[in-house]
Amino acid sequence: MSSTTAGDGGPGGAVVVTGASRGIGAAMAGDGGRAGAVVVTGASRGIGAAMAIELARRGWTVACLSRSGEMPGDLRDRDGVSAHVCDVTDEAALSRVFAAVAEAAGGIAGLVNNAGIHRQTPSVQLSRDELDAVLNVNTVGPVLACREVHPHLVATGGGLIVNIGSFWDRLGVPRTVAYCASKAALGAVTRCLAVEWAADGITVVDVAPGYISTDMNRDYLASDSGRGRLARVPSGRAGEPEEVAAFVAGLFDGPVGYLTGSTIYMDGGLGISV
Ligand code: NDP
Repeated sequence: MSSTTAGDGGPGGAVVVTGASRGIGAAMAGDGGRAGAVVVTGASRGIGAAMAIELARRGWTVACLSRSGEMPGDLRDRDGVSAHVCDVTDEAALSRVFAAVAEAAGGIAGLVNNAGIHRQTPSVQLSRDELDAVLNVNTVGPVLACREVHPHLVATGGGLIVNIGSFWDRLGVPRTVAYCASKAALGAVTRCLAVEWAADGITVVDVAPGYISTDMNRDYLASDSGRGRLARVPSGRAGEPEEVAAFVAGLFDGPVGYLTGSTIYMDGGLGISV
């Protein structure tokens, strides 16, 4: 009634999957396959860079998109990894880059909508420009990217889209109207596309991190206020980009089976604690 599968890549030892003779357990014991590229937006640094590095380590062809077009440091000169200048709010650029990536890699297997920006401003001072900027990058951009990648995923027989949300999507956070709204909307986008595209063999999930130490919040987390917040995290610390990366890359290793439309919180338990 049990089966054993060795991980690809590296660490010694085996993963024991109990109850793997049929159903989900049997699917987990399969090998993921590596046909086509995985596109990661916002991959020049932070969580996106960590995901690109982890996906490449597991053998995926990876396309790294960002406004700067910078390659995550560890991936320079690595075969199968490309960096592209692409603002996620620019639909023509998205269309061009996806076509180029599909052409070079023989298809696209998945997309990680990771690019995001964060602003905190008292709501009475919130400008229309700031509201538009946050919603455009964090919500509109992912919708455009999903729309543009859809034909490529269909062409490869389906695929996986991971939207990077935030555990703030369900919380009331002072001075953070635009960001919280953008991430709550991304959860809704995930559910709608999961339902609409399930018949196309496309899985859509929202991975919603808690406090992760990156450029976005490193200074805050080191402040008195930030340390106070971290003290309330049941896991007792901030998360690392590599932890989110390992989880998301694991989804691409798949198969993900019956999972779709869900928001999966990776926040050390903070969002469910009192
Ligand atoms: P960083 O600020 O470290 O990195 C953001 C990335 O997005 C960079 O690669 C940046 O590259 C890119 N980017 C920003 N705007 C655009 C754009 N318009 N088009 C294309 N790329 C863009 O952020 P994190 O790594 O911390 O965050 C990654 C994701 O995780 C975000 O969606 C964020 O909301 C989410 N998240 C982060 C948390 C955290 O604690 N860090 C917690 C919860 C969620 P460039 O400047 O070159 O364009």
